[in-house]
Amino acid sequence: MASAFQSFWQYLVTHFSDFQLATLGTFIIHESVFFLSGLPFTFFERSGFFSKYKIQKKNNTPAAQERCILRLILYHVCVNLPVMIASYPAFRFMGMRSSLPLPSLSVIIPQVLFYFILEDFVFYWGHRVLHTKWLYKHVHSVHHEYATPFGLTSEYAHPAEILFLGFATILGPALTGPHLFTMWLWMILRVLETVEAHCGYHFPWSLSNFLPLYGGSDFHDYHHRLLYTKSGNYASTFVYMDWLFGTDEGYRKLKAIEKEGKEPDEVY
Ligand SMILES: [Zn+2]
Ligand SMILES: [Zn+2]
Repeated sequence: MASAFQSFWQYLVTHFSDFQLATLGTFIIHESVFFLSGLPFTFFERSGFFSKYKIQKKNNTPAAQERCILRLILYHVCVNLPVMIASYPAFRFMGMRSSLPLPSLSVIIPQVLFYFILEDFVFYWGHRVLHTKWLYKHVHSVHHEYATPFGLTSEYAHPAEILFLGFATILGPALTGPHLFTMWLWMILRVLETVEAHCGYHFPWSLSNFLPLYGGSDFHDYHHRLLYTKSGNYASTFVYMDWLFGTDEGYRKLKAIEKEGKEPDEVY
């Protein structure tokens, strides 16, 4: 298996340049993972499939979903792709490489863990700033247009916010100069994580049921359905930043009420 993958990687590096892999390759993988993981939730919402596990009773109209998808394609081509191309020299400068040998797991795992922790930290503070009056009104309100998230809304944001989110995502790799394979793995996991956080469903098999520090869909859905001054739950991946800085009080209160089996309506 490992050697088959090595051969596949050998094929990639002999047929494509480092630049092509790091820019177009990254773009194609991002689009594939993002739409393949996010699209099923738009169909679940339309068909009522898995409605038992839906966090909010409200549904988005098909027209609202389609509008989101068209905007996403536009932003991905006009913002994400140029950013990937423009940041390539910086990654090369920091030591990113695509050649064989592939890095070992003892290198990949600590690097990806570091990226998650750093991204969560930067995202938390940036997101809190985005919830100040002017920035919310002119920038972050775009991401909050969908108070009932459906997976693909994870990347639906003002171009200025896309740049900020991109910065939080690529800061870790830019500091450590990883192998391109590690970069791709990090990007795939980050996309899957943010799509799950916005999927609108909390399943019995959702990761947050098993990983105590992981936020997941229930945690971030709360952020979307509250008024922007009250939302809290600002972190992207983990729950500890909001706990440390007291921005998860409303959410904790709601969870306590739900645990007692009461109607949670009065906390909204
Ligand atoms: Zn927000
Ligand atoms: Zn969100």
